[in-house]
Amino acid sequence: MPERIHLSPPHLGGGEKAYIEEATQSNYIAPLGPQVDAFEKEIARKSGFPYTLAVVSGTAAIHLALKCIGVGPGDTVAASALTFIGGVAPIVYLGARPVFVDSEYCSWNMDPQRLGDMLEDSGSRYDLPRAVVVTDIYGQCADYDAIADICTRYGVALVIDAAESFGATYKERSAGDAGIAAAYSFNGNKIITTSGGGMLASREPALMAYARKLSQHAKEDAHFYEHREVGFNYRMSNIVAAVGRGQLAMLEERVRLKRAVFAYYKKHLEDVDGLDFMPEAPWGTSSRWLTVMLVSPDSFGADREAVRAALEKENIEARPVWKPMHMQPVFEGCRAAGGAVAEELFGRGLCLPSGTAMTRADMDRVIRTVLGCRGLFCG
Ligand SMILES: *Cc1c(COP(=O)(O)O)cnc(C)c1O
Repeated sequence: MPERIHLSPPHLGGGEKAYIEEATQSNYIAPLGPQVDAFEKEIARKSGFPYTLAVVSGTAAIHLALKCIGVGPGDTVAASALTFIGGVAPIVYLGARPVFVDSEYCSWNMDPQRLGDMLEDSGSRYDLPRAVVVTDIYGQCADYDAIADICTRYGVALVIDAAESFGATYKERSAGDAGIAAAYSFNGNKIITTSGGGMLASREPALMAYARKLSQHAKEDAHFYEHREVGFNYRMSNIVAAVGRGQLAMLEERVRLKRAVFAYYKKHLEDVDGLDFMPEAPWGTSSRWLTVMLVSPDSFGADREAVRAALEKENIEARPVWKPMHMQPVFEGCRAAGGAVAEELFGRGLCLPSGTAMTRADMDRVIRTVLGCRGLFCG
């Protein structure tokens, strides 16, 4: 059996060890500590956000953002239909109900037009959502300006789920830089990883002060333990932050490599009938966190599942595009504004191995296997 090629494995940069050593030397084997403070500052500098809060996961960051906005029982929150559940589960944690908004073809992200129509309709019924959570899918920013304009018009808070887009840009701004707050994830499969972790980022000092308090069991400012409300235990540990500092130093290089992986696949596969690659919207630079292609069975002669199975047989990990949230059994009965675009992307989309440590030989193995599915052979 040839060696397994994973979808997006962690890629250590070498600098992590020194920071971990620093953390152990200083005896800060604890949640919080100097590595956490430094990691927050470094992410602030890199992302352009003045305020950052290091937490245990991207999901926790979204949870805090929505809680700080005031999302609670009885509310609805609009969310991208095409996303991973980590950005949606916090809506349910807070007792609110999600309503899902379909994608647009040019970016695969939330369609501003659909969002506008949905807000117009729900506004006319005095039933506006409390917030909108927009996911930047597979490393590409959504159309922030269009979406932010619509949210402002209806007075609805906007949160960006930038878990997959850290390192990408929108009109020279950093991924996430729209609306009231953004969440990044440093889970093991993301473009940089701390093993597990996340960051909340915002330009709103009051929101961030409240998020910080909530993330530490809502301890009041007193020398004894005083609680006026119930919070969470969401702070990042000092050791985890040390890993993050080492990873962060590699971010630009990782984006460059992710884009090179995408370019290599595209160069060798885009002329094949029935294979199309995820488009890059004109407003920014995608991090190409994952390379995604669409398989059209009629012209390619095999469907997405046949390609995925062939890759698996060669010990190559490939995954279907996220199954849209409005198709998930757990969200049966939730409202959706459209959904056909997300369904089509799910039906035909395949995420190819996109690790930044992949060799050319690894990529050639993937390409050969894909081509083999239509009975051809390359090189
Ligand atoms: C990974 C991911 C999350 C969750 O991040 P965790 O750090 O794993 O909690 C949320 N939303 C999207 C779109 C993601 O890809």
